[in-house]
Amino acid sequence: MGYRCPECKKVFDDFKDLRIHYRKSHMDGRCSICGPDGKKFSNIIRHYHMKTDDFPHLVVLCIIEGYDFIEDKKYRKIVRSLVETVLEERNAMLFEIIFNKGDRGR
Ligand SMILES: [Zn+2]
Ligand SMILES: [Zn+2]
Repeated sequence: MGYRCPECKKVFDDFKDLRIHYRKSHMDGRCSICGPDGKKFSNIIRHYHMKTDDFPHLVVLCIIEGYDFIEDKKYRKIVRSLVETVLEERNAMLFEIIFNKGDRGR
């Protein structure tokens, strides 16, 4: 079982490895959700924080920051299980629905 990167779809055995990969490879100021080819944000972390009501943005924020920014313990646990379920390798269909990247590059 592995976790899929929402940006490049590479799979990592460990959620921790995915987090390291994402921070190393995809933190160029562009938003993975609004459009990797889109504009650069001066503060991309702030952008993700402002969009946490949008689930895909929340997922990416959790990859970048972990879950500690969620103060409510119960809510944190729920978010964690949702985020990791969506990114799990075997849930490819769910991943496609959430990130809807099937038509990219056409
Ligand atoms: Zn990636
Ligand atoms: Zn965005």
